[in-house]
Amino acid sequence: MQQLLEEITQQLAFETERGKVADYIPQLAEVDPGQFGISLATVEGERFSAGAAATPFSIQSISKVFTLTLGLGKLGDGLWTNVGREPSGDPFNSIVQLEHENGKPRNPFINAGAIAVVDAIMMGHEPRETLAEILSFVRYITDDQSVYFDHLVAASEMAHKDRNASLAHFMKAFGRLRHDVDKVLGTYFHQCAIAMSCEQLACAGLFLASNGVNRPANLRVVSPQRARRINSLMMMCGHYDASGEFAFRVGLPGKSGVGGGILAIAPGRGSLAVWSPGLDEYGNSLLGARALEMFVQRTGWSVFGH
Ligand code: GLU
Repeated sequence: MQQLLEEITQQLAFETERGKVADYIPQLAEVDPGQFGISLATVEGERFSAGAAATPFSIQSISKVFTLTLGLGKLGDGLWTNVGREPSGDPFNSIVQLEHENGKPRNPFINAGAIAVVDAIMMGHEPRETLAEILSFVRYITDDQSVYFDHLVAASEMAHKDRNASLAHFMKAFGRLRHDVDKVLGTYFHQCAIAMSCEQLACAGLFLASNGVNRPANLRVVSPQRARRINSLMMMCGHYDASGEFAFRVGLPGKSGVGGGILAIAPGRGSLAVWSPGLDEYGNSLLGARALEMFVQRTGWSVFGH
C-alpha cells in the first residue's frame, strides 16, 4: 500500500494539467495548485500516506458528511422532512430545483441541502454552541484535538455570501428554515472552513468503512444501517452533477470539496483522503479523482470490484 500511494504521488507530480483552484474567495484562490497528498486508514488500523498528507487544507463540502451524520444522530429520520436524498444533476450552488420542489433541497450534499441540515442541527441554539458541537464531533472521529476552524476562510465566505444567502432565504420563504438566515449561514461557513490534513480526514472517515465503528477508539459512531445509508448518499450525490462520472470511474462512495479534497470510503477495507487543489469544471479535484481511479484499478477496492 505504501509503495502504491508513493507511485501514484510520483506519477501525478509530473502532471501539468492540474485543474483550476476555486477562486470565489481569495483564501482558496491563493492556494498553490502544485500540492498533492493522499492518505489511507484501513479498518485493521494501519495508516499509509504519501505527498503532502500532513498539510491542513479547507475541507469545504466534505464537512457535509459530518454534519449529516450529526443531524441524523440528533433528528433521526425526521431530518428528511426538509431535505431529500436524490442526486440533483445540478451544480453545488444551484437554485433552480428549489423553486420547482417547494424549497426542499434534493440532497444534503448540495449547498442548499447542507444549509438545511445546519438549520436542523441548531435546534434553537446559537451558532457558537452548534459550532462547538460540530467541531467536537469532528475531533472525536478524527481522534485529534488539533482540528480547527480557519476563521479567515469563514469570514471570507461570509463576505461573499450572496449566492448561499439566496439559497437560504429562498428556503426560508418556503418555511424550510427555522433560524435566522445569517446565523445559519455563519454556522454553515464555519463548518465548510474546517481545516484538516489527508491523514486526519482518512481517520475521520473510518467509521463509514467499518459499519459505523470508529476503529482507533473502537467506539460506535452510528449504526451499521446508518453507515450504509450515508455511504449510499455519498455514492449518488457526493460529487454534485459529476456524481455519476465519479461512480463510473472510481466506484466508491466519495465526497468532494472545492478546497480540492476528496474523502472516499472502501466499505470493509478503509477510508481514503486525497487532496489536490486544482478543480475540474464541476468543482471536483481533478488529480484527486485521478488518484482514486488509479488506486481502485490497482487494488480492486471499488465496491464493484476491478
Ligand atoms: N463553502 C462552499 C460554498 O458554499 C462549499 C462548496 C463546496 O465545497 O463544494 O460555496
